[in-house]
Amino acid sequence: MLVLGGTGDAVKFVQQFVSRCPQVEVITSLAGRTAQPQNLQGKVRIGGFGGVPGLAEYLVATGIDFVVDLTHPCAGQIKQNAFLACQIACVPYLLFCRPAWEPDPTDRWIPVDCLEAVPSALPSTAQRVFLTTGRQNLAPFQNLPHLWFLIRSVDPPTIDIPNSEVILDRGPFTLEEELALLQEHRIDTIVTKNSGGDATYAKIVAARQLNLPVVIVQRPPLPPAPLVTTLEAALDQVVSFFRGDCSNSYTRKTDRAPGH
Ligand code: NAP
Repeated sequence: MLVLGGTGDAVKFVQQFVSRCPQVEVITSLAGRTAQPQNLQGKVRIGGFGGVPGLAEYLVATGIDFVVDLTHPCAGQIKQNAFLACQIACVPYLLFCRPAWEPDPTDRWIPVDCLEAVPSALPSTAQRVFLTTGRQNLAPFQNLPHLWFLIRSVDPPTIDIPNSEVILDRGPFTLEEELALLQEHRIDTIVTKNSGGDATYAKIVAARQLNLPVVIVQRPPLPPAPLVTTLEAALDQVVSFFRGDCSNSYTRKTDRAPGH
């Protein structure tokens, strides 16, 4: 099984899957964005595949029977690539995507479609901005000298943003921690992706309590693939596939017509 990872969800999924199906060889693929990825059971490969053709070739060459995609909800390209590559290589593909955060009626959200749209969507009151969009997504904020940024990322940013302070940290974060951070740095605006999940949700609640505007980058579209929104559902489907449960809807390699 190939797990497309790069998230805490992938780490948890692999851990639970291995304990239920220890006979299945699991390879987790990481893009290589973080210097010290979290510990993963099974094999790990790192780096891009070379687009759709590269991934399709990898699936065939490695004899992958099943691909489960647990990449971040905002990682749009790899999902489209994996969906197409699995079709080419005739390998079943399951997509896990945790539900997006939804605004409360009192939330002051400013939704935008992409990171590049954030600077012009910032409210006119913005002066001190908390940026949590990831260290490789800072280019749109390079030339905004009238703003001060608090940047939080797992590894150091790849570009230098003037007028900023960087905090290196990995979630989960508690509400108390987020409230203290926002107040200590006198933050007036938050910028985040709509990641969903619990690990980084506290900043959304903190913004609500402090009545701060949140510029929120929406997720890219998903490919038209079988989709699950909980880890339990993903585990059930993949475990039943490998146990050969006839009730699942996936075609096993041995069921395929010759030549496929
Ligand atoms: P992306 O835009 O969807 O993908 C860009 C390229 O990175 C892909 O075309 C692929 O290169 C390579 N890639 C992405 N995920 C890969 C994986 N798991 N294994 C091997 N290659 C991978 O992705 P992204 O937004 O840059 O995110 C990169 C990784 O960071 C993802 O794995 C994601 O789970 C993780 N992550 C992303 C975010 C986020 O906000 N986007 C947040 C937390 C973690 P090739 O075309 O060469 O195969």
